[in-house]
Amino acid sequence: MPGPLQSHSREWLFCLFSLALLSACGGPESPTKLSGATMGTVWHVSYVPGASAPDAQELQRGIESELALVDQSMSTYRSDSEISRFNALAIREWFKPSVDFIRVMSAALDVGSKSEGAYDITVSPLVDLWGFGPNGMSGVTPDEEDIARIRARVGQQNIELDEMRYRVRKNDYLAVDFSSLAKGYAVDLVADWLTARGIEQYMVEVGGEMRLSGLSARGDLWRIAIEQPDSSERTVATTLQLTDVALATSGDYRNYFEVNGKRYSHSIDPRTGYPVAHDLVSVTVIHPSCMVADAWATALTVLGAERAMAVAQAQGLAVYFIRRVGGGFEHSHTPLFSRYLGEPQRTDVPQTEE
Ligand code: ADP
Ligand code: MG
Repeated sequence: MPGPLQSHSREWLFCLFSLALLSACGGPESPTKLSGATMGTVWHVSYVPGASAPDAQELQRGIESELALVDQSMSTYRSDSEISRFNALAIREWFKPSVDFIRVMSAALDVGSKSEGAYDITVSPLVDLWGFGPNGMSGVTPDEEDIARIRARVGQQNIELDEMRYRVRKNDYLAVDFSSLAKGYAVDLVADWLTARGIEQYMVEVGGEMRLSGLSARGDLWRIAIEQPDSSERTVATTLQLTDVALATSGDYRNYFEVNGKRYSHSIDPRTGYPVAHDLVSVTVIHPSCMVADAWATALTVLGAERAMAVAQAQGLAVYFIRRVGGGFEHSHTPLFSRYLGEPQRTDVPQTEE
């Protein structure tokens, strides 16, 4: 299905293995697994049905309709989506979107205001210019004048969100892009939907972002691997043991294009107009909300290692960072992340799922 994240499908094929669940098979109850395609990527749900859960077919249909809501609202690949209609709207004209749209915009503006200008959903025209938008890549780097001209149109201060009256407008020419947090929001929507159906033990994952609830089918905390950011090999950087939280990972080593041997990442720094080009290659954020984790993972990636660590600590976030240093990798994390770290590093990615 076309969606805001279509250009990321390559990323997800890889991610499927890298975020493999590490728990052993079998256990007191077997999990039921559902999956499908959405927003140009893949979703997976694994749950323990419990006594009163609806049957798997009904759950599959329900999950699909929750995901369709996000696609209809936030896909820049659809001209009839709410986001495309908002982007096409004239300056100062009020727009009355869905509650989902308002929630995502509000969270994005909040992260934007705390990220020293590194995160900004009005970066959309720059994303398009660099070829990471719906029109795809031209294979050449843009002109400096075009970058400067388009960068001048970026700025979330020109969005006026009136949450009391559920309406939003732009006070200058701009376009927004929710790709950096829409997958996370989709995870939250599906997770809340499952909870409302009496399901307490589940893992919901959309394009690599996930939320966990209760114990795994084995009766333990969920065990999740963070991948070593190496585009040629699949190795585990570290393992986590956790539940009742969400996690999102930004990994620029998966999503980039190359011109004359130089890599251009899909994370764009709105302050310069250029894709980020530093050594911070993987950022994993753990947060109760997957949408917020997803937005911060992107924001911290753009900030770069030093500012990202400072901002993450100031904001009280649980974050794991991997930097490329020389020929290897350097790992660090905020104090709040320590509680989720599992057993010491492993060298291979197990292919098992719980
Ligand atoms: P990652 O998992 O690598 O963070 P996401 O899918 O969460 O990737 O977000 C990347 C997408 O966010 C890009 O493809 C682009 O559409 C958008 N984006 C790029 N730079 C920024 C930025 N500085 N602020 C907000 N959104 C951005
Ligand atoms: Mg993100």
